[in-house]
Amino acid sequence: METLLEAPHQLLITYIALTFIIQLRYFLIVGPLHWMLWNSKFYFKNAFKLSKSPPNPKTIKHEIKLSLISSFIYAAPTAVVLEMWKYGGTAIYSGVPEGMNGWFWVILSMFIYLFVQDAWFYWTHRLMHKKTLFKWMHSGHHKSIQPTPWASFSFDPLEAFSAAWLLPVLALLVPIHIYAAFALLMIMTVNAIFNHAGWEIYPQKWIEGSWGKNIITASHHNLHHTNFKGNYGLYFRFWDKLCNTDIGLIKR
Ligand SMILES: [Zn+2]
Ligand SMILES: [Zn+2]
Repeated sequence: METLLEAPHQLLITYIALTFIIQLRYFLIVGPLHWMLWNSKFYFKNAFKLSKSPPNPKTIKHEIKLSLISSFIYAAPTAVVLEMWKYGGTAIYSGVPEGMNGWFWVILSMFIYLFVQDAWFYWTHRLMHKKTLFKWMHSGHHKSIQPTPWASFSFDPLEAFSAAWLLPVLALLVPIHIYAAFALLMIMTVNAIFNHAGWEIYPQKWIEGSWGKNIITASHHNLHHTNFKGNYGLYFRFWDKLCNTDIGLIKR
């Protein structure tokens, strides 16, 4: 049977295709959303502007440059896992889930992935705010003091390296349905883009509700960008609250 190492050309093709798909996803989602938020009052009538200044073309250029570099880094471990999947060497499965337990696992596995990624992000993010690491790993992302949706993927290469391998490795260990994996990628993308939008699109009532007050939205992450300290989480406010690093929200 042909193995991954015997078909390096196939791995290269998957890697190039994946890099292209990540870049395409970035431009196709961020581009229209940026236009909808900043150039048209029609789509998000109740959105609240968090950014004190309009987007700066120089900052956007920087955000796009780092995002394109990141796409090359993120695509590498994902391409390896996708190729391994072809030979049945991962924990990714397909087909209709079996009974209640099957469906329950689909939902639970998604929460496990989100929780592990959130914990990894929180602790590495906090570490990257230490003086010695900040300059090398995280200063690129923080050039966006008033972030725009284009900042959602703009990481220094070392920061991208620290995060890119996590989900592919999880996909080798924790069973995940292929469609749940796609749904997770979508949740991650949309979450990152909205958290850097420079606008709060969720209603205040929801943000202050029992579910919303534990979830990170733009009012929370925007404050991290303007303040530099506090609010280190990715999806949930759990770690920030537990470790007293939660500095609250930008209020309407
Ligand atoms: Zn930061
Ligand atoms: Zn950010």
